Amino acid sequence: MDIQTNIKEILTELPSGVRLVAVSKFHPNECIEAAYQAGQRIFGESKVQELTEKYQTLPKDIEWHFIGHLQTNKVKYIAPFISMIHAVDSFKLLEEINKQASKVNRIIPCLLEIHIAQEESKYGFTFESCREMLQEGAWKNLKNISINGVMGMATNTEDSDEIRKEFKLLHDFFTELKQTYFPNEAQFCEISMGMSHDYPLAIEAGSTLVRVGSKIFGDRIY
Ligand SMILES: *Cc1c(COP(=O)(O)O)cnc(C)c1O
Repeated sequence: MDIQTNIKEILTELPSGVRLVAVSKFHPNECIEAAYQAGQRIFGESKVQELTEKYQTLPKDIEWHFIGHLQTNKVKYIAPFISMIHAVDSFKLLEEINKQASKVNRIIPCLLEIHIAQEESKYGFTFESCREMLQEGAWKNLKNISINGVMGMATNTEDSDEIRKEFKLLHDFFTELKQTYFPNEAQFCEISMGMSHDYPLAIEAGSTLVRVGSKIFGDRIY
C-alpha cells in the first residue's frame, strides 16, 4: 500500500471545487507524514485524544478536520487549532463550540450533520429537526462559529442507486438551507459527503469535501 500513489490517484480524479480530507484516524504519524510529502494538507480525525497528540507532533500547516461525533465536554481540547468540525448535530454542541472558540478568540467553521442513511443512528439532525433549529434563530447570536454547510453519510450498501438517492437528498437539502437561511452567506458552501467506497457517487451529486480513509491508508486496525 503506497500512500503517496494513492493520494495522487485520488487527487487526479477530483474536479476543481472538491477537496480531499484524508481520514487518518487509527493510523500512525508516519502514514500522515507520507501523505503530507505527497502534498496533502487536510486530515480528518474522529477521536479527540488521538487528534490532539497528532496535532502536537505533526507540521503546523496541517488543516485538521474533526469528522467524528464530538462530545461537548471535549470541545475545549480542539478549539484552539481545529480547522473545521464536520458532525455538529445539536444546538447545544454549537453553543459549546462557540463558547470555547470565543475563549481562544477564534471563529470555528462547522458543518451540520444530517442523517440520510437508512441505518439507525443516534447522530445527525433529521431534515425536520435541522430546519427547526435554524428557524428558531438563536444560532445567529453565536459569533464565534460559522455554519459552512452540511455533512452526511450514505447507507453502507452495494446498492449504488440507494447511495445516489441519499446523496441527492443531502444536496437538495443543502440547496434548501442555502436559499432559506444563508442566501447572502458565501461561507455556506460545503457539502461533506463521500468516503472510500462511495466518493465518486458523492462527487457526481455535488460533494465539495470527500472524506477518504482506507483507500489512502489501508485498513484500520482497531
Ligand atoms: C472513518 C470515516 C471516514 C473514512 O472512511 P473510509 O471508508 O475509510 O474512507 C469518513 N467519514 C467519517 C465520518 C468517518 O468516521
